[in-house]
Amino acid sequence: MSDVKDRIIELKEKKGAVILAHNYQLPEIQDVADFIGDSLELSVKSEKIEKDLIVFCGVDFMAEQAKVLNPGKKVLIPTKAALCPMAALLPRWLLERYREQYPGVPVVLYVNTHADAKALADYIVTSANAADVVSRIDSDRILFGPDANLADYVAEKTGKEVIPIPPSGHCAVHQTIAPIEVQELIEAHPDAEVMAHPECTRETRKLAHYVGSTSQMLRHAKESGSKKFIVVTEKGLVYRMQKEMPDKTFIPIETAICTNMKKINLDNLLRSLQEEIYEVEIGPDIAERVRQTLIKTRKLLEK
Ligand code: SF4
Repeated sequence: MSDVKDRIIELKEKKGAVILAHNYQLPEIQDVADFIGDSLELSVKSEKIEKDLIVFCGVDFMAEQAKVLNPGKKVLIPTKAALCPMAALLPRWLLERYREQYPGVPVVLYVNTHADAKALADYIVTSANAADVVSRIDSDRILFGPDANLADYVAEKTGKEVIPIPPSGHCAVHQTIAPIEVQELIEAHPDAEVMAHPECTRETRKLAHYVGSTSQMLRHAKESGSKKFIVVTEKGLVYRMQKEMPDKTFIPIETAICTNMKKINLDNLLRSLQEEIYEVEIGPDIAERVRQTLIKTRKLLEK
């Protein structure tokens, strides 16, 4: 193990900290993390953590979500540069306008939004539960943001009118995975099962045998009888899949790299632990409103 990795682990133990890492993080960050997962899994995990210091290796909105769920704990993100461009597409002021434009229409926000916008949502979802939540809402018309591809997937699954806000919000990493790129991999590996993330375009999704969040894809790969998979999402997930399932083969989309996720590295993670920077702060009123909306969403799923 590298010297920096050793120092991170030593310091983490000394300070009683916990490191959470998203599935798209660099392999070396995944190696030092206590828990790896998608947004939903990490949110659930963060709530159960008994330690008072959380270092979140992911992008801004994810660290915010961990802070919302853990108001009494110190939540750090190793660099302020790890920003999700999609989350920035639906700021609070814009959401206020959509609410005025569509009075009475329920607003469902993908977890990939900032806390101050989430505070105006009726429900908050992940890619793993978005269709399930929307199907249970007592309305055939839904405002959904900020990912128009996920909104389209939810509309396909539920048969409801899902209005994307903004109309063409997207994750650049998934949006730019071209169907031809996937098609070429299918031709090169005809025995492989194709799994795709719902943030991909409809044309790309149509080439997949299975569509799901990163945690759902991981679970599906474990349960499937297939030995080879084409993984149509950010490349980082393949590292975890290959590590957990060494007897299976995972083929990534080589160009699907989220540069923002990759801004967290061993050096800034070590510095974050040493200096306890950068602390995530959320106003108590905003945090409380987001927590209430998360509780409301969970209750809907329990019905
Ligand atoms: S993969 Fe896409 S949605 Fe996820 S953090 Fe990167 S830009 Fe944002």
